[in-house]
Amino acid sequence: MELDIAWTVKWLQLCAEAMAEHRVELIELDRAIGDSDHGENMDRGFQAVLAKLADGPPETPSAALKLTAMTLMSTVGGAAGPLYGTAFLRAATSLGDAARIDPPAWAAALAAARDGIVARGKAEPGDKTMVDAWTPAVDAARNAADGGNADNLAVLVAAAEAAEAGAVATDPMVARKGRASYLGERSAGHRDPGAVSSALILRAAVEAAA
Ligand code: ADP
Ligand code: MG
Ligand code: MG
Repeated sequence: MELDIAWTVKWLQLCAEAMAEHRVELIELDRAIGDSDHGENMDRGFQAVLAKLADGPPETPSAALKLTAMTLMSTVGGAAGPLYGTAFLRAATSLGDAARIDPPAWAAALAAARDGIVARGKAEPGDKTMVDAWTPAVDAARNAADGGNADNLAVLVAAAEAAEAGAVATDPMVARKGRASYLGERSAGHRDPGAVSSALILRAAVEAAA
């Protein structure tokens, strides 16, 4: 499967589907250590992305991700809006005007997204944020792409699986950034909602190629 504009649009559509499907789960996770709005924020944001895509389909993967960034920034709100906006914008810039994404380009785009999240939110690995999903995803994608003969699907799968494991690994962490940090030690024993939504986004990338 080529990771072209058709794949990118499919990916974003599947992100919207996943956020709608997992809306309540994300709300419940955010209820435990935040303010219960993460599921609504993400669902609203990706529904708006769907509407934008229907208005006029972009020509390149990068243009589609830039459109996504702008839309998420203006509709998601809270902490996650600017963080995801920056992530998609940096990924778009990293891809340039290429018509297709190859494994090294995917690994580089994920790294750019993660670096954008870190630049914006100043979280480190272990702070119990979405960074704990993105960082292992970046490492796994790089490792998978490294040999030079990895296929597209294998790199997407490696990133998604690492993000999912990264989200699970936030359970025992004590939050040091965002609203959950107000709870201090009491944030331990709960999964970070933003790490879960990040894993959903990377899983949707696999499904779009499958
Ligand atoms: P808010 O906390 O403003 O209600 P959301 O509930 O939509 O925003 O998003 C919360 C998620 O944002 C958290 O679960 C966490 O993953 C992420 N987050 C919050 N602050 C930061 C930060 N400084 N760096 C990285 N991610 C963060
Ligand atoms: Mg919240
Ligand atoms: Mg909020």
